[in-house]
Amino acid sequence: MSIKFSPPDISEEEIQAVTETLRSGWITTGPKTRELEDEVTSYTGAAETVCLSSATAGMEMVLRLLEVGPGDEVITTPYTYSATAAVILHTGATPVFADVKKGSFLIDPDEVRKKLTSKTKVIIPVDIAGVPADYRELFNIIEEMKFLFSATSPLQEKLGRVCILADAAHSLGARYRGCSIGSVADFTSFSFHAVKNVTTSEGGAVVISKIWGEEIAGIKKRLKVLSLHGQSKDALEKTYIGSWEYDIIEPAYKCNMTDMAAALGLVQLKRYRESLIDRRVTLFNLYNELLETDDRFIIPSGSDSCKTSSNHLYLLRVKNYTESGRNSLISLMGERGVPCNVHYKPLPMFTAYKNLGYRMEDYPHAYKQFQNEITLPLHTGLTDEDVMYISQMLMNN
Ligand SMILES: *Cc1c(COP(=O)(O)O)cnc(C)c1O
Repeated sequence: MSIKFSPPDISEEEIQAVTETLRSGWITTGPKTRELEDEVTSYTGAAETVCLSSATAGMEMVLRLLEVGPGDEVITTPYTYSATAAVILHTGATPVFADVKKGSFLIDPDEVRKKLTSKTKVIIPVDIAGVPADYRELFNIIEEMKFLFSATSPLQEKLGRVCILADAAHSLGARYRGCSIGSVADFTSFSFHAVKNVTTSEGGAVVISKIWGEEIAGIKKRLKVLSLHGQSKDALEKTYIGSWEYDIIEPAYKCNMTDMAAALGLVQLKRYRESLIDRRVTLFNLYNELLETDDRFIIPSGSDSCKTSSNHLYLLRVKNYTESGRNSLISLMGERGVPCNVHYKPLPMFTAYKNLGYRMEDYPHAYKQFQNEITLPLHTGLTDEDVMYISQMLMNN
């Protein structure tokens, strides 16, 4: 038995699409990227999409767009990948961690309320494993605490409250109270990294919510300029007859998507919508059905009446386990041909964040989720028999 943890699901159709783009004579940001942007917009019900080189870049460009910087605070969860907090630090602002809800992998809205100050500009909830965060509660809190908010940029002024930027690296295709992720938060950043549900090898997309109204076109333009050197025209626009001249509005960043990546993403997104997303539901439910029979395990929460998960990760927990017990189980599973992982080691446990003064003791619920968590393989290359084998190996331990 040799099972992979999360290989990309690439068919001949993706290979052909990328090859066609290579032969087309246009390989950087151009028609394919625009097409993918339109597809993501229609899939997520957002107003507009800008495809970039990663979800990380997307989150950072949104913070730059809002002019978040030194002296500002951005609230996020300690239970995430480092990218979520690193982008805050890049801007010079301070990440403020709000612990997860007891027994959950998601940020606790009550903790967010406690951490809100007049310096808070943005909240970045993370849809861990593809399960949407508690957006309604988060929006209620920022409305309730609006009196504290103090805008320091024109867009912040327009919004008139703290902005919600969703880290939706896991949750493309997920739904919250009947709305697709992408049309819930003010901005949403999706990842198309190699291990995500839909991949462009490396890539991501920021989507702009309809809430921005007449600002939408300007925001889209601004995100494009910020992500391409601060240049007033992109490469394709410069090829139009007599259109060579451009301005550099500011010395900005370089994180655009290539058309090769977009060509891959277009086929991936189509296959995801047609069948891959459903296959994930089946695999997730099969794990649940098998592992529920063993009361040593805490089954992960997935979809319920208000949330539809994208089933990106299977985050199993083992009752009464500590870090060392969990780590031995991962080694044992490895010996039996089943690679497992941990999502995530909370950020305050890492050197970089310790050096910044964060202490794990301040986030007890995040630590409890982490210490007995083991992530099982969950991807569309698995057969039902693979899932049965993995579950049997776990139950036999
Ligand atoms: C993968 C991931 C990211 C980063 O995505 P990139 O596209 O690689 O930048 C951010 N947040 C979370 C929770 C992730 O899992």
